[in-house]
Amino acid sequence: MKLRFWGVRGSYPVPGKDTVKYGGNTSCTEIELDNGRRIVLDAGTGLIQLGKTLSQRKESFNGTILLSHYHWDHIQGLPFLLQIFDPKSSIKLRGYYGENANPKNAMLEQIRNIYCPFEYKDLLASFDYEPVTEGRTEVEGIQTDVIFMNHPGGSVSYKFHINGKKYIYVTDNDITFPEFDYKVEAFKTQDSTEKEFISNGIQKVIDFVRDADLLIHDSMYYRGEANVRVGYGHSCFEDTVSLALEANVKKLVLFHHDPDHNDEEVANILELSRAKVRDSGKQMECVAAQEGLEIELG
Ligand SMILES: [Zn+2]
Repeated sequence: MKLRFWGVRGSYPVPGKDTVKYGGNTSCTEIELDNGRRIVLDAGTGLIQLGKTLSQRKESFNGTILLSHYHWDHIQGLPFLLQIFDPKSSIKLRGYYGENANPKNAMLEQIRNIYCPFEYKDLLASFDYEPVTEGRTEVEGIQTDVIFMNHPGGSVSYKFHINGKKYIYVTDNDITFPEFDYKVEAFKTQDSTEKEFISNGIQKVIDFVRDADLLIHDSMYYRGEANVRVGYGHSCFEDTVSLALEANVKKLVLFHHDPDHNDEEVANILELSRAKVRDSGKQMECVAAQEGLEIELG
């Protein structure tokens, strides 16, 4: 079982010479299962290259795409996944159900004629939609915990239990360590019952990521940048590292790089993060997500 990064950026794609090393595509991470199926975490532009790669291998897409939320950088690859026109592909899209926000809408809205040359009725793959909400669910046969994080419009994180290990994906989350000033937002579940989420504070997040074998976490900013982008719903790497150390994480992957950061700056953030780990006296591996980076799971 392999985890592979196809897109590691936040906000918008940044192709060009300054992002060659870490990559310029927006968020998309794949878990390739041993049975040939796959779980894809978010559908940013990285998903397009995943689809092309499968197409070159003459493979269909069979699996689940889990959306953390519906901001542009997490859904914009969907209309360009080649397998949406492959009748042999079966794509399950899952995400939270909020007001006007759900996984089907994430696809439908983007391919309205005003934005796109084809329509939903033109798609040939079979689609299936299923909500996620806080608690335990099963994704492709894997026990998965879901939690809401701190992000404008909401964001959900996923914890996969595989062979006794915990692999956790937390993108678009504002830690605001040590204060953890959580916003409370209302959303509607599929049955339209109002529910409040988040607001449980830092302890809930620490508990969720505790003893993770792998934690992929938003680490978009330097502290100074985070201070002037209050309310954007992202974390500075200093807080991400603090959270991971506090929670006894074994391996941390810095993720959702700021599009304003070139390769040199991402590398610098990685170095500073590693220095912070060293200063703590703890043993935690720390890497920066990079297009093409593969991590063996299980
Ligand atoms: Zn994002």
